[in-house]
Amino acid sequence: MRIDLDANATTPVLPEVLDAMRPFFCERHGNPSSAHQSGRQARGALEMARIAVASLLRCEAKEIVFTSGGTESDNLALCGVLQPFLDRHEPAHLITTDIEHHAVLFAAQSLEKRGREATGLLEVTYLRPNADGVIDPADFEAALRPHTRLVSVMLANNETGAIQPVGKLARIAKDYAEKNSTSIFVHTDAVQGAGKMQLDLSGEFKNVDLLSVSGHKIYGPQGTGALFVRKGVELAPLFHGGPHERQRRAGTENVPGIVGLGRAAQLAQEWLAGDGPRHLAALHARFEAALLSAIPGASVNAASAPRVSNTTNLRIDGINAEPLLISLDLHGIAASFGSACTSGAAEASHVLLGMGMTPAQANASLRFSLSRLTTGEEIDRALEIIPAAVAQIRTVR
Ligand code: PLP
Repeated sequence: MRIDLDANATTPVLPEVLDAMRPFFCERHGNPSSAHQSGRQARGALEMARIAVASLLRCEAKEIVFTSGGTESDNLALCGVLQPFLDRHEPAHLITTDIEHHAVLFAAQSLEKRGREATGLLEVTYLRPNADGVIDPADFEAALRPHTRLVSVMLANNETGAIQPVGKLARIAKDYAEKNSTSIFVHTDAVQGAGKMQLDLSGEFKNVDLLSVSGHKIYGPQGTGALFVRKGVELAPLFHGGPHERQRRAGTENVPGIVGLGRAAQLAQEWLAGDGPRHLAALHARFEAALLSAIPGASVNAASAPRVSNTTNLRIDGINAEPLLISLDLHGIAASFGSACTSGAAEASHVLLGMGMTPAQANASLRFSLSRLTTGEEIDRALEIIPAAVAQIRTVR
């Protein structure tokens, strides 16, 4: 049996999601911009999906923009908010962190470069987390400047699972903006938080203006996603074309994919309201505790941080994670080294280095991430395989 302990990389499309999508490939195909019946049906399905995603995030349906995934949502948020400042030659300052996904980090670097080349007026501050991978609100507050226009801090880190105090940071940013009579927009990459924890854009996250979600991390299809854009936020589009998505994202909508994303959002909401989170947290706690007691020299990165209850970033002193991952793969277990996007390139994780680890410590770390579908039997089997694989790697050194 194959055991998937790499759910932060991607999750399978649930059967209910596939069932919902299927008709929209063939018999119910239609372009939502068409005025005839099949177009109107496609439009109806699209708007139902928008309501489902808005319901998961507790926002208004018209605040949801469908995208091709987390990467596009992040790029749309950062470039969409900051490009108009570049265009107007107005100074702008972005605060983000060293531990963001590359979708945010590289978008920030690209804006910084464009700003330098064009006007020199776009600055970026990259905040360092503490040793547990969490941004300190005091550091955040100290970084705010009168020309800060955007903040982008992720909700849950994809590698460690550490949850950032986004609600608190957003409030600090808004208080600062009010005192200085300016405006600061707050974005959070919630790709690894959505569907794992409750998100409330009219409660805890009421000061968040933009929030990214990805379909394939919540048991929906790959290549789908959404960006929440709070009413009143000015956003320049990344693509030029038709007036789709209220002029915020040109291009004929991926109707089957969006229907799948909507169904996945509904199922996530049901799961969060039920017994699922408690069950997964218990399974994860058992897995983590058993690994720590069975593997000498093992510790959990970001152990003291609040974390999403499916992720264990395990450091095993004295080993290199790469051969261990290969061995685990041969024994039927999928896990990962750093983030999925950099796996294959044996480069120390920027997240772990950002937390102050040495390259050797980062390279001795691997990520296990459980899914809603992980069973107790799979965990039992993984707990037989993983410590034995570590012991075997240690004997051949
Ligand atoms: N942000 C985070 C935190 C992620 O973990 C990922 C994917 O791993 C992304 C963004 C990119 O999402 P997508 O794969 O949908 O482009």
